[in-house]
Amino acid sequence: MSESEDDWLSLMPTEPLESQCCGSGCKPCVYDVYQKELAQWEEAKAKKDRSLLTKQKEESSNSELNPDTFTAFKISSVEQLTEDTCQYKFELPGNSSLGLSLGQHIVLRGMVNGLEVQRAYTPVSPVNAEGYFEVLIKCYEAGLMSQYIKSWIEGETVFWRGPFGGFPYSPNQVSYIIDTERLSTCCPNYTLQHEI
Ligand SMILES: Cc1cc2nc3c(=O)[nH]c(=O)nc-3n(C[C@H](O)[C@H](O)[C@H](O)COP(=O)(O)OP(=O)(O)OC[C@H]3O[C@@H](n4cnc5c(N)ncnc54)[C@H](O)[C@@H]3O)c2cc1C
Repeated sequence: MSESEDDWLSLMPTEPLESQCCGSGCKPCVYDVYQKELAQWEEAKAKKDRSLLTKQKEESSNSELNPDTFTAFKISSVEQLTEDTCQYKFELPGNSSLGLSLGQHIVLRGMVNGLEVQRAYTPVSPVNAEGYFEVLIKCYEAGLMSQYIKSWIEGETVFWRGPFGGFPYSPNQVSYIIDTERLSTCCPNYTLQHEI
């Protein structure tokens, strides 16, 4: 089947808007994902082979968290903690874990008045929690993503990608995190109870 230039243009990836970048230095950033998809599209177009575009669609139907594509997760509970802060619990398939390490965050995609917005959030559940993960979010009166989050109810599905970032620390990498000599000068009565 011959494909017109218009057919190929309709499949071309769209460059992200500024609002789609959460600004927290994710690797890959939405712009990296766009460049990868564009290169894939250019290759498919040059070879006149649409099947080269489907790989990316297969990845996005995977139920595991992925840094390149958004994955759907269902909200299993919403707990209001303060006037503007709620803890949201999300289901994970079976007894699986989200697979984050210390200090890592995930990126949420939301639609607000037809505008796609992406923001970073750091799960508060233990890194080895099985079958769920939780995020604690403060909503702002004029915040864009906040407008979307405020509408969340139990059973709703939202989209996350990640993980990103983290602290360059592994267990027992250093013998202490407090300079005990300095501590004894400034707080002579303080006794260090635990070594790590
Ligand atoms: C790595 C990382 C992890 C994070 N983890 C968490 C987390 O676990 N939980 C959490 O609650 N947040 C977290 N954040 C913050 C989160 O990503 C968002 O920044 C936050 O939710 C606000 O997003 P928003 O779109 O609602 O607000 P935005 O639209 O980005 O606005 C942010 C603030 O600016 C104000 N504002 C917006 N526009 C204007 C304007 N024109 N003039 C004046 N003021 C304005 C808003 O009222 C609001 O107070 C994290 C951020 C990073 C970078």
